[in-house]
Amino acid sequence: MTSLNRSYKIQTLANDLKIKSIDKPVESILAFCEQRVRRFLKEFSGCSRPSDLLDILAAKLQTRFEVFRSDYELLAIKEKYVQAGEKRFATLEQEFPADVFGITFRRLSRKPWEPEYVSVIDCRSDKRYRSNYTKWHELGHLLILTDQLRISFSRTFCTQDLKDPEESLVDVIAGHFAFWPPLFAALTTGPISFDRIEQIRLAHCPEASKQSAVLGIVKAWQAPCVLLEARLALKKDEKLMEAQTAFGFRHRPQAALRVSNVTVNDAGADAGLRVHRNWRVPEQSIISRVFHQNGDGAAVEDLSWWETSSGTRLPEMQVDVQARRTPDTVQALITPGKP
Ligand SMILES: [Zn+2]
Repeated sequence: MTSLNRSYKIQTLANDLKIKSIDKPVESILAFCEQRVRRFLKEFSGCSRPSDLLDILAAKLQTRFEVFRSDYELLAIKEKYVQAGEKRFATLEQEFPADVFGITFRRLSRKPWEPEYVSVIDCRSDKRYRSNYTKWHELGHLLILTDQLRISFSRTFCTQDLKDPEESLVDVIAGHFAFWPPLFAALTTGPISFDRIEQIRLAHCPEASKQSAVLGIVKAWQAPCVLLEARLALKKDEKLMEAQTAFGFRHRPQAALRVSNVTVNDAGADAGLRVHRNWRVPEQSIISRVFHQNGDGAAVEDLSWWETSSGTRLPEMQVDVQARRTPDTVQALITPGKP
């Protein structure tokens, strides 16, 4: 979030939204969206699930979702809108290469009673697992839309390091409202576990993917928690070294199990819980054992086991660690241990 806060594009956007305090533009923009959403909700009682909130926001932000599950359905959407005079839809089938998941178009030839936008969501084959999140992403764009003349925007998928700052910001907004804490308040108490997260997903938001639910529910959890994901990776300077080995220099560096993603929820940040991205997972940690031996595991550990090669360590803190293997990674939940 820190690097996103320093982005010129994000600071400009905060300015355009007339946000006065732009010290931390991401937090300020999120607070701006929160105010808008709460204002919308004053007109509706009984919004208790994320799917209700999605429908309300789509209506208030003036979009209609058009979801296609096959090429045939894509052509049917194209036909429908071309018939309605939307020339932009004439090449719709070419606008969804493998890395585009959704596109929101401004309607240029709509009837006065029709919504101003249409958000076309690709739900073919594996893209269906992300389709709910793609809808939230499109709503995220509309929540911070400042350029009223912008004709379309799309959701493409790329890795964290390569993402455009505005796309990253929209993902922060989408993730926040897809698992909006007030809708989870009664569920996210007591001890957290991967099983509890999955029970909540099935009961409360089965449309969400398992992956996004783990992330969103950890963020909404009321007690301190860190979610981390680790995979085999090289350090930055080792990546450089590896590039050099291609030209015959030095020895090829060995990949180690490193943190690839970290999410610390608000309560966790307040409690001083932290783990850093790219740090090597301690060999004695259950996270490392689960990665190498598969299956699940849990252990009581100490955060001070985490250290860099230059000797920087995390402060001592007893923690409970639960880990589980996924095909390429290991995921772990870290919570403060009993004092
Ligand atoms: Zn986007």
